[in-house]
Amino acid sequence: MLAATVQPCPWTTFSADSLTAILLENGLSAGNVAHILRSWYRNDGQLDEWARTRVGPRVVSFLETSITSVPSSISQRHISSDGTTKLLVNFTDASNFQPTGSIPQSAECVLMPAYRAGRAMACVSSQIGCAMGCEFCASTENGLARNLTASEIVEQFVHLQREARAQQRRITSLVFMGMGEPMHNLDSVITAIRCIADPDMGAVGWRQVTVSTVGIVPGIDALAAANLNVHLALSLHAADDDTRSTIVPMNRKYDINAILSAASRFYDRTGRIVTIEWCLIDGVNDNNTQADLLASLLARFNLLRRARVNVIPFNPIGPGRDARGLARRVLQRPPAPRVTAFIERLKLHGVVCHARDTRGDDVAAACGQLRRTVLRQVRS
Ligand code: SF4
Repeated sequence: MLAATVQPCPWTTFSADSLTAILLENGLSAGNVAHILRSWYRNDGQLDEWARTRVGPRVVSFLETSITSVPSSISQRHISSDGTTKLLVNFTDASNFQPTGSIPQSAECVLMPAYRAGRAMACVSSQIGCAMGCEFCASTENGLARNLTASEIVEQFVHLQREARAQQRRITSLVFMGMGEPMHNLDSVITAIRCIADPDMGAVGWRQVTVSTVGIVPGIDALAAANLNVHLALSLHAADDDTRSTIVPMNRKYDINAILSAASRFYDRTGRIVTIEWCLIDGVNDNNTQADLLASLLARFNLLRRARVNVIPFNPIGPGRDARGLARRVLQRPPAPRVTAFIERLKLHGVVCHARDTRGDDVAAACGQLRRTVLRQVRS
């Protein structure tokens, strides 16, 4: 019998490279790593008969003593009338692997049905909480608790995959638009993407992955340099620095010129169309001046044909406090005619622009809302 040289750990910990390394370290063949991973992802961490036959009894025996199931659990599940499923996933503390079961150790992830039958989009978190302080976001209310490990990011995907299967759907795209700023946990995000998106594993595929950022310039450059062939989504939300700094405080560090330059470099390096996210807020960024300014910015940074704008009517989060405990203004969604007028104005300038549906309004689907609700209950 072979003795495992590792403490048993969740199967979601392994990428192709790390699984290869551990098998070789234990004197085993690593020629079937792709079969193992594909089987795990298709069968929730189990090796199917096809994979067992290919990898052989020695590897099967080693894996059975070395690999555990996913340790996280779903503490809340809310299904919207539009089919959006929002999960609150409880993690063990990555630093000591002790189950805490406490709400601060939880993060949100969402499964959204696609318009095409049998398909769905997954949205995962990269951090527990967030330090960015965006005014329209509930995730930031209690600040940043900690980064998620790569395995914990993959675990969210696995939970969503189970939900999708139960709904006879297949996850065909993945976005990092949940809680947290992905560029502040980029190593884990990249490792998780390498696990989830590798076509060898039969999961989503690189081109179906989008990483979102408020505009952390070194992170955008690092993501481009990682050569993952994924998409970038830039949370812009305003076309002048004064307005943007109010709703996205990180703008004081990386201003609009800096982040659009970085977006332009990202396109030059990857050839991937950049998505500009625009959360449309009543009386804040929904006027013609903002639309005109945005169009001229995209033209100036040569992004008019290399970026598309997603306009998302704001999903109200109600009253709340910022990370310093100060009351925030209560923001509202603009009336529907204003949303249409904003989009038409952009199109008039030749901007490629889409209105994105708000999803799961009845299940607190905006980023951080579910965790915030539970956190308030726990602390009251
Ligand atoms: S929008 Fe994203 S970056 Fe901004 S506070 Fe929310 S989770 Fe953080």
